[in-house]
Amino acid sequence: MKQKKHKPFFSYRWRNRATVLNRGTILRLLKKVGIVIGFLIILFFILNWIFPLPDKIEYSVIITDNKGEVINAYLTRDQKWRMKTELNEISPLLRKTIIAKEDKYFYSHPGVNPVAIVKAFFRNVFRMKTASGASTITMQVARALEHRKRNIGSKIIETFRAFQLELKYNKNEILQMYLNLVPYGGNIEGVKSASILYFNKNPDHLSLAEITALSIIPNRPSSLVIGKNNDLIVQERNKWLRKFAEEKVFTQKEIADALAEPLTASRGTVPHYLPHLSYRLKIRGGDIVRTNIIMNTQAKTEKLVEDYVRTLRLKNIKNAAVVVINNKTHKVITYVGSSDFHDTTDGGQVNGAAAVREPGSTLKPLLYGLCIDEGLETPKMVVTDVGVNYAGYSPENYDKKFNGYVTVEYALEHSLNIPAVKSLGLLGKDKLIQKLASCDFKQIKKDQNKLGLSMILGGCGATLEELTGLFSAFANDGIYIAPSYTQNDTNPARKKIISAAANYMITDILSRVNRPDFPLNWQATEHMPKIAWKTGTSYGRRDAWSIGYNKNYTIGVWVGNFSGVGVADLSGANVATPLLFKIFNTIDYDSDADWFDLPADCEQRKVCSETGLLPADHCNNIVMDYFIPMTSSTKQCDNWQEIMISADEKLSYCKNCVPETGYKKKWYKMIDPEMQAWMEENKVVYEKIPSHNPNCEKIFKEGLPVITSPNNNTEYLINKKDREPLQLTCKTQNDVSKVYWYINNKFYKTSSAGEKQFFVPDEGPVKISCTDDKGRNRDIWITVKYVNL
Ligand SMILES: [Zn+2]
Ligand SMILES: [Zn+2]
Repeated sequence: MKQKKHKPFFSYRWRNRATVLNRGTILRLLKKVGIVIGFLIILFFILNWIFPLPDKIEYSVIITDNKGEVINAYLTRDQKWRMKTELNEISPLLRKTIIAKEDKYFYSHPGVNPVAIVKAFFRNVFRMKTASGASTITMQVARALEHRKRNIGSKIIETFRAFQLELKYNKNEILQMYLNLVPYGGNIEGVKSASILYFNKNPDHLSLAEITALSIIPNRPSSLVIGKNNDLIVQERNKWLRKFAEEKVFTQKEIADALAEPLTASRGTVPHYLPHLSYRLKIRGGDIVRTNIIMNTQAKTEKLVEDYVRTLRLKNIKNAAVVVINNKTHKVITYVGSSDFHDTTDGGQVNGAAAVREPGSTLKPLLYGLCIDEGLETPKMVVTDVGVNYAGYSPENYDKKFNGYVTVEYALEHSLNIPAVKSLGLLGKDKLIQKLASCDFKQIKKDQNKLGLSMILGGCGATLEELTGLFSAFANDGIYIAPSYTQNDTNPARKKIISAAANYMITDILSRVNRPDFPLNWQATEHMPKIAWKTGTSYGRRDAWSIGYNKNYTIGVWVGNFSGVGVADLSGANVATPLLFKIFNTIDYDSDADWFDLPADCEQRKVCSETGLLPADHCNNIVMDYFIPMTSSTKQCDNWQEIMISADEKLSYCKNCVPETGYKKKWYKMIDPEMQAWMEENKVVYEKIPSHNPNCEKIFKEGLPVITSPNNNTEYLINKKDREPLQLTCKTQNDVSKVYWYINNKFYKTSSAGEKQFFVPDEGPVKISCTDDKGRNRDIWITVKYVNL
């Protein structure tokens, strides 16, 4: 009974325990496990929040050409070559090989591989040696992000970091980080750096043999050095290749090819092409700067610049810079900052393309384009090239001669200074500055309040980059699209700078070859493409410019010395243009690009050749001129006027004083006083209108100009040391638009009726005369004394 009594007890206990295990115990256990897992998850997230991933990786900045090839790179701050491999550079072959070798279950484990850990643990215990095989790719990334001593504590932290990585990144991104951080000996980190430095190519072009060879380096970086231990590396590589064959990772053919591939690589150097542009773009930021540089064109241009500057060294001219823009894509495809970056004696490291220099006459085409668009000028319009004085500023022409009457197109072709200064005066300099500012001329924008009319002769600061960009607008119907230096510069704004018609007229003038700035001794070849170009020479002959364009390219050339030393032989025409022609002749050789088409709003009309205005009855010399309907002036030529004169041709009359005794009529050419002065100086014979009838009341008694400054019969004291100019102002009748000032009977200046003028008088009595455009004159006298104040 007793035993019987016990049995049920036992069986009960047993059954009871079984029941508990089946239900409550399991539930409780699950609950406990759940709590532990929950706790661990919460702990993980807390730790994740407290100890975020140290995943900010500093990469070497790399500069690529238009095809993505590395053309320059910079060490990281910790002096490493750690170039960023992009996802698209991780070829399927690279991915497959690395995964087969490092971490077969990479795509299925959660960051750590439990089986491998257990295996490694036992190996660790029995061999008393730190295991390496256990680390997944994720854990290796964790290790590379933070360098620690290899012990159990570090393993635990790495495991935690591995989970963090898996949480934050997808598998491809983790593989990318691995490939970017894995050490390949020396200061080379990442497969991209290794690929560039050892194999001189991007990682997506590596072969199976090369990838396998590279992948064994990280295990023993000090004993497996590419270039030193290549035989040993080949042995190790082939072991892995055979293992891949056993595991059927690759086909027998692929393995056989890889086994047969020799390893001749050794550590090379990182390319340092385009040092000036690379540095300029590097400081803008970003790990990878993708330029639009075409290396073929770049190399040809560099060679031309180097050879050309060598020939100039005898003349003491030592540097040059070139920018080439593709006009169809608006991309900067070639950029030469100096003739030799490594030339330290002549400042080869200075970037001549980005340096702010005086632009000489290179802004004149834009000025005339703007004047055409304002209706102020057309190519055949006649302007005067005679000495002028702007508040003490008297520009001279390049050859120090004045040409009298010239057309606008002649003035641009010959780069005359006076017509340019006058045209800028007519247009207003603010309009030119505003256009240049919208074309990204930074220095001009900065200095806009300081600039004067001399800016059109180069009295301002501009860079070759800016000028080449401006001229590329002339190659694009007058629409400026900022040149793109990198592939990130997408969809730049289109800014209309001048009308297509004005642009066409300017291009037509700039493409003529029979001009004074055509280089001496230039042997044009029949293959030379047609181009339009403008030269410039800065004050003191420090900078020679020549910027040209056709439908294909805009090329900007600067030649000079970075030291700023002027050279007598330096000129845009003879020093910069030959290099411009050579570059066109090389990169656009034998091009059959068609020339620019006549735009719809550009029409032709007959004009009088003496004025460029619409012909009147008296005009005999008619020429064809371009014009813009509704914009260009429709003023009729009034160059000749029929004047009533006395029989002896000694007096002229107006309607009010014409004598009843009779008169005769005669045609005279109207010549304004500044041209008369020039003609007399240059002994050009012309027929003067006889002086006006002195008894004429209308002209000489009424409405004479009144000189309001200086004051008649007044003594003026002028400081000897600081000769401040006197102001010239007058009041005139409403019908007067222009007045002419004379100092001591000598023509001084033409002025608008209300405009202030200035002059610095000589000591002694001074006669000041003001004549209006109707011929009415007023004289005053002042006395000037120079004193020490
Ligand atoms: Zn005429
Ligand atoms: Zn009269």
